[in-house]
Amino acid sequence: MTQSCGLMGDGEKPVKIHHLVKAPENTPESVASRESWDASKPVTVYTTPENLPDGSPCTAATVILRTKGCAWWWKSGCTFCGYFNDVRDDVTSEDMFSQWEEAKKRTENFKGCRMVKVYTSGTFFEDRENPPEWQEHVLRETYEMGLHLVVEAQAQMCTEEKLAWVAERHPGCTVAIGLEAYDNTVLRFHANKGFSIRQWHKAVELLRENSLRVKTYLLFKPPFMSEGDALEHTSRWVMEVSKISDEVSINPMNIQRGTIVDRLFRNREYRPPWLWSLVEMIVRTHADVSNTDCRVIVHPTAGGKTRGSHNCGSCDSEVVAAIERYSVSGDLREFTGLECECKKAWYSEIQSDATLPAPLGAGIHRRGNPLDRIRAP
Ligand code: SF4
Ligand SMILES: [Zn+2]
Repeated sequence: MTQSCGLMGDGEKPVKIHHLVKAPENTPESVASRESWDASKPVTVYTTPENLPDGSPCTAATVILRTKGCAWWWKSGCTFCGYFNDVRDDVTSEDMFSQWEEAKKRTENFKGCRMVKVYTSGTFFEDRENPPEWQEHVLRETYEMGLHLVVEAQAQMCTEEKLAWVAERHPGCTVAIGLEAYDNTVLRFHANKGFSIRQWHKAVELLRENSLRVKTYLLFKPPFMSEGDALEHTSRWVMEVSKISDEVSINPMNIQRGTIVDRLFRNREYRPPWLWSLVEMIVRTHADVSNTDCRVIVHPTAGGKTRGSHNCGSCDSEVVAAIERYSVSGDLREFTGLECECKKAWYSEIQSDATLPAPLGAGIHRRGNPLDRIRAP
């Protein structure tokens, strides 16, 4: 791309800048890592215990594909999303078919599975991202195999025509939307999500009209938010969105390479959420959520690691395990007897966040490098 930057001296011609590096996906490291992989093989295929829509336990296969990636990312992108590390814009339709065949081969045609999650690092049914003939093939084939299908989408991609098209090919499948926050200001300024609550409501309405299932992802602790605020806001969001979703999955922030959150994190201006906050959110929302038919799960990706939701280091594995157990049992007794010295530090942090005028929070990891702070204008 060539761009005139408008800088010019007296009588000089405009300076032309060639090969503008504008975003992390264009850095040499990112390009090299993307080009090192084989586009005919999926990123990964694995199975996990899951629950079918009627609540009965089953085994689910998760297939993560290498795709052209999210159209929103190429335009702008969410502040926390590192999917660009796994996508490439030269993936062909043939590649997509062969990745799907490979996934079936590795699982012996999804042997023993009753559910399959097909994740494309973007919107499954977006035609610029994934070839329509491939979408159609996956929708029909999984339906014929009697598998419950879960795909992901951005809210604004859930158009009337497209959802009707999907529902015709795989009736009753689940569409998971990364809503992240039930708050327009947070969507816009913290997540840069690219859609508003109104668009999400519209998407939910259309999914219902087409008898498709609604799964909603919420993000715990977006950037530029204190721990205390994250706890307050997310607890409220869970109670709101669980009223109209079939399933809510809360994803505590984990830091992905090359993202805006990564940059804040490396500058010590962002600490991933405490595991104690997740426990507290579950306890606060449990009664409300139990009154709905919605299933609420919390899955701390990279839980216990510095880039994932963590506590002091010594109690982490125990707390992560209790949260994982709660996602299956929905029973608050999973947290009985969980204690650690670090709980006091966490508690005083969320108390301070609620009372001190510190927009990014009072936690020590978030104060930033003192030298940088002095230098800042
Ligand atoms: S979080 Fe989803 S919508 Fe946002 S950039 Fe990533 S893939 Fe796209
Ligand atoms: Zn601890």
